[in-house]
Amino acid sequence: MQDFHIWYTCDEHLDYVMDDMIEEFHTAPTLEPLQSPIEHSCKWCGKEAEYQLELEYGIHEQTE
Ligand SMILES: [Zn+2]
Repeated sequence: MQDFHIWYTCDEHLDYVMDDMIEEFHTAPTLEPLQSPIEHSCKWCGKEAEYQLELEYGIHEQTE
């Protein structure tokens, strides 16, 4: 089963949002600068986002 998440962040809160994402998904996301006109808001402060953090998982199967 695959899942895909994208979180957006501004330059200022990149570290915060990255840490949050790692905490939530236990995987380091891929950082991509946003190239298209800014249409997304930072997850932390709600201002214009400059980066997206992509996370695709399903590669590691977790069984508990
Ligand atoms: Zn921000």
